[in-house]
Amino acid sequence: MGENMIVELISVGTEILLGNIVNTNAAYLSEKCAGLGLSCYYQDVVGDNEERLFETIKTALSRADILLLSGGLGPTQDDLTKEVAAKAFGRKLYLHEESKASIQKFFEKRGLEITDNNWKQAMMPEDCIVVDNPNGTAPGVIMEQDGKHVILMPGPPNEMIPMFEKSIMPYLSKLQSCVIFSQTVKVCGVGESKAETMVQDLIDEQSNPTIATYAKTGEVHLRVTARAEDEKAARKLVKPIIKELKGRFGNHVYTTDDEVTLEKAVVDLLLANKLTVSTVESCTGGLVAARLINVPGVSEVFKSGYITYSNKAKRRLLGIKKSTLLKHGAVSEEIAREMAKGAALVSKSDVTVSITGIAGPDGGSEEKPVGLVYIGCNVCGRTTVKECHFSGNRTKIRENTVSSALSLMRECILQYYSEVTFGNKDK
Ligand code: ATP
Ligand code: MG
Repeated sequence: MGENMIVELISVGTEILLGNIVNTNAAYLSEKCAGLGLSCYYQDVVGDNEERLFETIKTALSRADILLLSGGLGPTQDDLTKEVAAKAFGRKLYLHEESKASIQKFFEKRGLEITDNNWKQAMMPEDCIVVDNPNGTAPGVIMEQDGKHVILMPGPPNEMIPMFEKSIMPYLSKLQSCVIFSQTVKVCGVGESKAETMVQDLIDEQSNPTIATYAKTGEVHLRVTARAEDEKAARKLVKPIIKELKGRFGNHVYTTDDEVTLEKAVVDLLLANKLTVSTVESCTGGLVAARLINVPGVSEVFKSGYITYSNKAKRRLLGIKKSTLLKHGAVSEEIAREMAKGAALVSKSDVTVSITGIAGPDGGSEEKPVGLVYIGCNVCGRTTVKECHFSGNRTKIRENTVSSALSLMRECILQYYSEVTFGNKDK
């Protein structure tokens, strides 16, 4: 297996430096390069400045095999990537007749007038590969010299991405002698640090495959990545590690499929067990319902989503007792329990999830601080309530609550069925 080629990304544009646009190209390209098995050690952002761009390219050439540049291929004065990259390789530009013709065609087709500066886009470095741009007028460019590859792509993502997929990716795969394959074990209901501790020994002893943990809101993803000469061999390396992780995290693993989200895992569980579901939410304002309804096919099981924000609504819609509210307050274990039960009754659902909490920034007290949330879940008459303490701002607290609610639903359904199956309790 050959050594990894090293790639460096250079995003060109003063707009990125000023924060006017987000560098989504770099995020996209780094993910793709990782998938191709290329090592990326540096990513640069440089403004539309000739000298600094030249310096950046020179520096990148000294430490990488492949340079991937995006931006600055347009027709205006400040677009100078091609000119500067050609200079770094000591090449001149010449008028590329085919590009000239296709630019002409592009404008004629759209009934647009060609201005003189458009011809700038038909100027190409000597001895380069001109890469077709089906979605714009600036072609891409590939130059090779002394084993170094410099690749130029347009900045607009709707031009860059199709060009990368159609032409650049095949070029890069040919350069690379090994492939990378990765699979993710998605875990819920286990905190990030606990999850990491549980796999620390594996992380310490592995180099191929590698294991990386990523903390997501209310979830942890463990990504196992292997490098090998072909995909089959890489998959073979990944397989036993996935098995080991599944063994360690047990029921907390909700999928090993990249496409499956936590809400999809919950909906699949409901569908498999033919369970109807309703939600009753206070501080999350319908976010749990929205996450569930994101999943196609949920209509088979989803019945109602209540947003009972005020105490009055909780009493009127769910039949919550005034005495419970007075005694324990709206944010309490008892109210979460009554909400889940009340919703089960009025919606006639097998599974209900209830949420009551203090998302802040106001409304907290010493006894009930901001971030205190109670999540209730009723599965066929059996209610569980979980007390959570979240930190962060209002948005963060609400997002964490939603993920925890989905995670609790999953846990309660699995628990219910394991007990029913083992005959411990009646339905
Ligand atoms: P144009 O022909 O449109 O001038 P260009 O190749 O010269 O294309 P830039 O002028 O650098 O590219 O950028 C044009 C637009 O493309 C930016 O305004 C921005 O919307 C988008 N863009 C450029 N670079 C990036 C990036 N790194 N990430 C996301 N979007 C980008
Ligand atoms: Mg431009």
